[in-house]
Amino acid sequence: MTVWAAAPVAEAGCDAPVIPPAVLRQRGQREVFCGLTGIIWLHRKIQDAFFLVVGSRTCAHLLQSAAGVMVFAEPRFGTAIMEERDLAGLADANEELDQIVDRLLTRRPDIKLLFLVGSCPSEVIKLDLSRAAQRLSAKHLPEVRVLSYSGSGIETTFTQGEDACLAALVPLMPVQDRDAAPSLLVAGALPDIVEDQFRRLFAELGIDRVAFLPARKAGALPAAGPNTAMLLAQPFLSETARALEERGVQRLLAPFPFGVEGTTAWLKAAADHFGVDELTFRRVVAPGRERAGRALERSRARLNGKRIFFFPDSQLEIPLARFLSRELGMTAVEVGTPYLHARHLAAELDLLPRGTRLSEGQDVDRQLERCRAERPDLVVCGLGLANPLEAEGLATKWSIELVFSPIHGFEQAGDLAELFARPLMRRDLLKVGA
Ligand code: SF4
Repeated sequence: MTVWAAAPVAEAGCDAPVIPPAVLRQRGQREVFCGLTGIIWLHRKIQDAFFLVVGSRTCAHLLQSAAGVMVFAEPRFGTAIMEERDLAGLADANEELDQIVDRLLTRRPDIKLLFLVGSCPSEVIKLDLSRAAQRLSAKHLPEVRVLSYSGSGIETTFTQGEDACLAALVPLMPVQDRDAAPSLLVAGALPDIVEDQFRRLFAELGIDRVAFLPARKAGALPAAGPNTAMLLAQPFLSETARALEERGVQRLLAPFPFGVEGTTAWLKAAADHFGVDELTFRRVVAPGRERAGRALERSRARLNGKRIFFFPDSQLEIPLARFLSRELGMTAVEVGTPYLHARHLAAELDLLPRGTRLSEGQDVDRQLERCRAERPDLVVCGLGLANPLEAEGLATKWSIELVFSPIHGFEQAGDLAELFARPLMRRDLLKVGA
């Protein structure tokens, strides 16, 4: 089913009026990974957590092949494989799960936070994992807290796994004192090195009370409340943002920190909120802006004037299209996104070149037809579509790579541009060699 509609952009809280772009809404067959994928980067981020997928052999294979086998370290994820059983057998399934958790926690005293991660096989859907988490928490607290969230492939995109995980953490965040000094919370899993870079920039701006969600240790969750301002580091955290806003946290509206422009505007939103003067702001961001601007030069010659087509997958599509079109001279012929969260993306939509074709949801065959008709220079898509499109002579970039790679902030802007330049470079080399 395909519907053209205007995106409902104008919501309370947005300062600048945004002209709603025409959005092609599609509700057809989709080609996406499931939310279990988030475990691959989340298990590295929360260092004393364990992700126990309650799933099938398929889930175990996905994790094993996508995340690889850890040879030198104890793994921080695993799969409890549930076999098919009827409703009468559910008591046994719960007992089995409890035994698996008991064995795991006895063997691994380093685990302080255990996530039971739901999946989509029918034998798992019958289990109530939130009740299982409560039961197991009651048994293992104070040493280990057990939480649950769903990474199921039904009606999700792969980045929603992180959103569900972080939203599950919000109720555990301590309540901020009424008279607490104003603080900043950055929501979204970032590589430690990127987190440290941002922390340094905020400190130079004089914003010292900065915390990140998720925290590196389960017991270090920051307090949140009405004196907390929040910057989203990722555009796919709608549930997490909603849970934090319900606690009174104030979301700062800004583009996402990709490229020179996005990073500057993202930092500026915090600077304005904390009353940092213009001169200080410019002085602090100038060196990073300059380095990032120089780093972008490497890829600009290759990307300028090229046409790019985004299939909906990571939910990073709109911010990346903004970055590529405004800073590298690319033309986005279609920007597909699984969900268009108009309020979170208001600042991004405002910056996208007028007339950019946006599509929300997917009807994969129709989108493939549009893509083939456009013959773009580069297609950003999931792994399942990349090989067939390459075979048809189109250069592709795996969208999942954009989530695995450090791409936020000034210092990563050059690498982010290179991620798009590399497939074009490879294609040119293949042409020369042919
Ligand atoms: S959760 Fe569903 S989609 Fe994901 S690996 Fe398991 S069975 Fe497949």
